Amino acid sequence: MKVFPINLNNSNLQTNQLKSYNNYKVLHHYPTDRITFSSNINSESVKKIIIIIGAPNSGKGTLARSLSDYFSIPTIGAGDILREEIKKGNKFGEIARQFMKNIGNVPKFTQLIKVFMGNTIKEKLKLPAYKNGFVLEGFPRTLEEAEMLKTILDAEKNIELKIVHLDVNTPLLFERCANRFMCKDCHRTYSFINPKDLPKCKCGGTLIKRDDDTPEILERRIKKYETETLQVVDYYRDKAVKITIKNANTGANKVLEKVLSKISE
Ligand SMILES: [Zn+2]
Repeated sequence: MKVFPINLNNSNLQTNQLKSYNNYKVLHHYPTDRITFSSNINSESVKKIIIIIGAPNSGKGTLARSLSDYFSIPTIGAGDILREEIKKGNKFGEIARQFMKNIGNVPKFTQLIKVFMGNTIKEKLKLPAYKNGFVLEGFPRTLEEAEMLKTILDAEKNIELKIVHLDVNTPLLFERCANRFMCKDCHRTYSFINPKDLPKCKCGGTLIKRDDDTPEILERRIKKYETETLQVVDYYRDKAVKITIKNANTGANKVLEKVLSKISE
């Protein structure tokens, strides 16, 4: 662990100064000047934006969390954001609920969700936590959303955009749907085959079945993915690095490994 700021590595340092600095470090876990200094440099650095596109249950959320940990940038998950709105129980929450279950095809709702997500991304880009970028999953799902996102990102400087396309075969999407459980509090997902007793989430939260995890809803969502979202993959063909993971049904760690090796190519 690096504990001393650069000037304290000076050999002329008085012993008592060193001692008091050590005490200070132990008592207050003082962050090193070195770290503060380097994070100032990073404030002008490139914003890394990674967009994960894939069918429902293709592992977008899991990959987003891993990439977020790896690059120390936050995640923006459209599904998580909309589920938070549903929890509030207001009118927009009800629109979000119907939208996520893909009940009927209400163009006005699709439009409202697009505007809401656009505003959410714009707001987040202003926050210090997002200054080095973010991982986006579950958005954009349509060409129109992709065009709107382009306008938002064009207004930013130093963007490095990467697109990850997770390509998973359909039977596996249904299998995952049956085995998937989500933490009620932090939305982390877990997979269990016919569990008798569900454990608690890492965060201590209770695991539940997501109410959009039914075969009927999944079928509708896959259809929508095939007719609309695959066009988004095409849209990004010339605009960013596209990473297609064929057979993304290998384990989550293998997928992360593949993505990282392709991202740094
Ligand atoms: Zn949790």
